[in-house]
Amino acid sequence: MATVLKAAPISQQIVDDLAKQCSLLKKDGCIPCLKVILIGEHAPSVIYTRNKKKFMESIGAECEIIKLAEDVSEENFLNTLKTQAKDKSVHGLFVQLPLPKHLSHIDVGQLVPPEKDVDGFHAQNLYKLMAGDKGENALLPCTPKGVMTMLKHAGVSLEGKSVAVIGRSLIVGKPLSLLMTNYNATVTMCHSKTSNLKQVTKSSDIIVAAIGRAKFINSEFLRSEGDQILIDVGINHDSDGILCGDIDQNDVENKCALITPVPGGVGKMTIVSLGQNLITAATNQLEK
Ligand code: NDP
Repeated sequence: MATVLKAAPISQQIVDDLAKQCSLLKKDGCIPCLKVILIGEHAPSVIYTRNKKKFMESIGAECEIIKLAEDVSEENFLNTLKTQAKDKSVHGLFVQLPLPKHLSHIDVGQLVPPEKDVDGFHAQNLYKLMAGDKGENALLPCTPKGVMTMLKHAGVSLEGKSVAVIGRSLIVGKPLSLLMTNYNATVTMCHSKTSNLKQVTKSSDIIVAAIGRAKFINSEFLRSEGDQILIDVGINHDSDGILCGDIDQNDVENKCALITPVPGGVGKMTIVSLGQNLITAATNQLEK
């Protein structure tokens, strides 16, 4: 039976730590503050932003969700973003994606100043990641950072390990592949055009599923030794409408060494990473 690596005990430890750091910042006159721009009523985005606000407040930080109408003009949206970008009392800023169609050509990651880029999508932060940073200087994208935090807490060293990252998005697959490479893993980044996916996954010590397809990875993708580590990034609903990941957890639970659950795994750690990035951003801005 595989070890199930739950986020809750890991996140509790980090929450306590972040709350202490937050109160120290407040003593120095800095109230860590996150602003989130939410456009429209896209149901998952409303839930995600609400959860992020709840988390920030649980560590003692401020968080305001700035709600704009679905049909907000490009000019009004950009003005709102610029106002928050300039405001010195705002330490972290991001726009909840996806953007409505009429704004989807805007690369919002580049409009948030790099020092407030708690999502880790600004070119300067991504360049540092490409250059080998493990988070010493860069604000790292939250989901990859959360995956690394979980592996670290489980005592998994990446050095010399082979990893199959399935998915090459800018928010998960690509930055996670870079980050794991920076930790000396040998990473194969797979995608929908990878022709020998099962061969790659069977030969990997760690498999990360960031695909967006419910229960896509099953025991047919695993080798028979039962020694692999499975990281499930996916957030999907199965045919019964039940929340599930990209890995068929029931099918693989006796055929791997360790697995992250859905829910209660990487998703929870993504918000924790956002909190860590906010406190880092506030600390850096105070020191300036
Ligand atoms: P994207 O849709 O942007 O990317 C999906 C990736 O999966 C693409 O690179 C795609 O390949 C690849 N893919 C699709 N089908 C296959 C296939 N049959 N075989 C191999 N690769 C395939 O998704 P995201 O990266 O944004 O998200 C992935 C999943 O993670 C989703 O379920 C999402 O909800 C979840 N997620 C969870 C987060 C968390 O906090 N836990 C945070 C962000 C996302 P190609 O590039 O060729 O199209």
